[in-house]
Amino acid sequence: VSGLMEGKRGLIMGVANDRSIAWGIAKAAAEAGAELAFTYQGDSLKKRVDPLAEQLGAKLVLPCDVTDAASMDAVFETLEKEWGKLDFVVHAIAFADKAELKGRYVDTSLDNFLMSMNISCYSFTAIAQRAEKLMHDGGSMVTLTYYGAEKVMPHYNVMGVAKAALEASVRYMAEDLGKRNIRVNAISAGPIKTLAASGIGDFRYILKWNEYNAPMRRTVTIDEVGMSALYLLSDMGKAVTGEVHHVDGGYHVVGMKAEDAPDI
Ligand code: NAD
Repeated sequence: VSGLMEGKRGLIMGVANDRSIAWGIAKAAAEAGAELAFTYQGDSLKKRVDPLAEQLGAKLVLPCDVTDAASMDAVFETLEKEWGKLDFVVHAIAFADKAELKGRYVDTSLDNFLMSMNISCYSFTAIAQRAEKLMHDGGSMVTLTYYGAEKVMPHYNVMGVAKAALEASVRYMAEDLGKRNIRVNAISAGPIKTLAASGIGDFRYILKWNEYNAPMRRTVTIDEVGMSALYLLSDMGKAVTGEVHHVDGGYHVVGMKAEDAPDI
């Protein structure tokens, strides 16, 4: 993949630490020659993101809370001033109140519903509005989703509803922006132990379940998600848009595993 992303500049949103999916994608893009900018949410994450960004030679490390329109505006003003253009954006951001990532979906409060939808779905649209203006030579936008958008997963609750809306927004934006050669896709990653995932009830059980039931009989890594993202971000995925691409060891194709399947 060396040279694949040479001359391309991209914004990575959603690194919290070196276990973040966004970090796996950033490493893959940088290794392929991309120049990166990072955003971090709040001062407490700055000290984690700064050294990671430095590791990949990124000079622009900017604060951004997607609930604050002014902070999103400021990021894109800086990118316009420093770079003048943008080739790709990675949106790896989601949030819901931990208290409602267990128990029943039906008990979701309005406040948490609106907040989860805003941070986990609308923010990708808000970022796309701003990024589009800098994608003069076309571009690629990638967000992260999960199978809980398609099927009921225990404890995923309001996040499943937000991810379903996010996946629909990927299709609508693919149509809106396709004429300008801007592609919009999602990666549906299998469960990975990250900071965000630790908020989901019984997450360890979900990991084990995937290990036992995915065709590949294992979970996936942030580096593997990174490689697949590279395909969507680069010219390798030049004609791919509106897609929800599963990087989950095949978990989503299984209705029921054969009983005589060898144990892992
Ligand atoms: P993570 O905790 O490393 O990343 C989540 C990021 O969201 C953090 O960097 C956090 O700062 C950011 N964020 C939350 N609220 C924000 C706000 N208001 N403004 C700006 N940033 C905000 O966890 P992750 O698992 O790498 O999550 C990245 C994405 O991948 C999320 O969309 C998540 O739903 C998705 N995903 C995760 C898994 C998994 O099992 N870990 C599976 C499929 C999809």
